[in-house]
Amino acid sequence: MEDKVSPDWSSKKVCVVGAGMWGLAAARELRREGLDVAVLEQSGGVGGQWLYDAATDGGDPLGLAGVHSSIFASLRLNSPREMMGFSDFPFRPSAAGGDARRYPVHGELLRYVRDFCDVFGLMDAVRLNTRVVRVAMAPPRRDGSLKWTGTSKRDGEEVETEEVFDAVVVATGHYSQPRLPSIEGMDRWRRRQLHSHSYRVSDSFHGEVVVIVGCSLSGMEIALELLCVAKEVHLSAKSTEEDMVAATSKMLSRHGNLHLRPQVEHLREDGRVVFDDGSCVVADTVVYCTGYNYSFPFLETEGKVTVDDNGVGPLYEHVFPPSLAPSLSFVGIPSKVILPQFAEVQARWVAHVLSGRRTLPSPEEMLRAVEEHAASMEAAGTPKRRTHDLLLDLEQCDEYGERTCGFPRMEQWKKEILRSSFSGLLDDIETYRDGYRDSDLVRHGLRHDGWTNEKDVGDDEEHASLPA
Ligand SMILES: Cc1cc2nc3c(=O)[nH]c(=O)nc-3n(C[C@H](O)[C@H](O)[C@H](O)COP(=O)(O)OP(=O)(O)OC[C@H]3O[C@@H](n4cnc5c(N)ncnc54)[C@H](O)[C@@H]3O)c2cc1C
Repeated sequence: MEDKVSPDWSSKKVCVVGAGMWGLAAARELRREGLDVAVLEQSGGVGGQWLYDAATDGGDPLGLAGVHSSIFASLRLNSPREMMGFSDFPFRPSAAGGDARRYPVHGELLRYVRDFCDVFGLMDAVRLNTRVVRVAMAPPRRDGSLKWTGTSKRDGEEVETEEVFDAVVVATGHYSQPRLPSIEGMDRWRRRQLHSHSYRVSDSFHGEVVVIVGCSLSGMEIALELLCVAKEVHLSAKSTEEDMVAATSKMLSRHGNLHLRPQVEHLREDGRVVFDDGSCVVADTVVYCTGYNYSFPFLETEGKVTVDDNGVGPLYEHVFPPSLAPSLSFVGIPSKVILPQFAEVQARWVAHVLSGRRTLPSPEEMLRAVEEHAASMEAAGTPKRRTHDLLLDLEQCDEYGERTCGFPRMEQWKKEILRSSFSGLLDDIETYRDGYRDSDLVRHGLRHDGWTNEKDVGDDEEHASLPA
């Protein structure tokens, strides 16, 4: 429901926790609505995951995340750059050089995020090196409004700062806290074990026998990198049949030192890793590529928002906790969505609700919607940990954007480039980034939006990379 901006909210103070792409999208949209925004960021720079950190939590693979970024040194984006920009600020190759490819290295996206902050003047809202240690409901007000006390600590300072905010937007990401399997013998394993969160470079894996637990994207990408230096890499999959997508079988056929294994049954103190089918290998290192957990250690909601088996809730449309809305909201909870367009959608919705331009249903209706969503997931046999998984469903993302904040639908050529990118990845993870072939629709879209020139549209060759 759209209304005009409420004068009540326009002078209110909003805290955004985290200056990753989602937090920055929120900051921009909130400012557009005339709200007073402070973005509190624990790191020394903006960018979140894209702010590569050579430090790791490798010394304590089973502990709480200490560093934020899980990006490894050689990582290239897995989504095309044409889709990785905000709707009014395309992620074009830099005129100053850099990696102009469609799937560039991660540093290129960090450069873009910094440019985005500069162009939209966001840095004066961002407080770097400022960790939020507590967000809790402020004492009740006479007028019944809900406010939040945010407690933060600046690096190198002893004292904590307490401030009262009219609203808090949580944008802390969910790729930092390792999700670990429970495998018998993990606690007694004396050799190296780490989560992919702590993987950066392959140097220390020379000549090793490595077992990688988890055969999704990061498992496959890290396996590919380790194959070049390790003696053997054993990729342990939940179901070797299900995980035998074309990309996995192509990898296996190309690399003699890569082996597909079933799930790990247990680890032995002598270094043996025993698999479900009774086979075993003596390994030097086990790398867990088993995903991440949602975690909000700073947030106190008196049990009104909880995390249960990676479902954060109750959250109306993955954003607003019904009993605390609109003064508490979460952006960036959904996974497998298109970044940053979906970030923009959620950010705009939150900003519109806070400014009073849009209204939310009643808390009861919101809760009912959350319960209906949970019931339909249960009926479909979808596990709770997939609550926020939107599975790159582009129509669903479009409907979400339209429904919540009237966000324009994605152009067809962009949908097509995404779909072909995803099917390329599933078909051949080693080549899809450089050996793609665009359809006429995509090529005309690229030309129309200024990504290519006339000559490129007529060019029927397979692309090696996007022209600069
Ligand atoms: C290995 C890897 C590869 C990926 N590749 C791609 C890709 O190719 N394409 C793609 O679209 N997506 C990719 N992703 C996903 C992508 O990183 C996320 O979708 C996106 O960066 C999330 O943005 P965010 O702003 O929600 O969170 P983040 O980028 O994680 O930012 C959260 C910010 O919050 C800050 N923060 C956290 N806690 C606090 C606190 N208490 N106080 C203050 N600040 C705090 C953090 O320091 C951080 O800056 C990848 C993720 C990983 C892990």
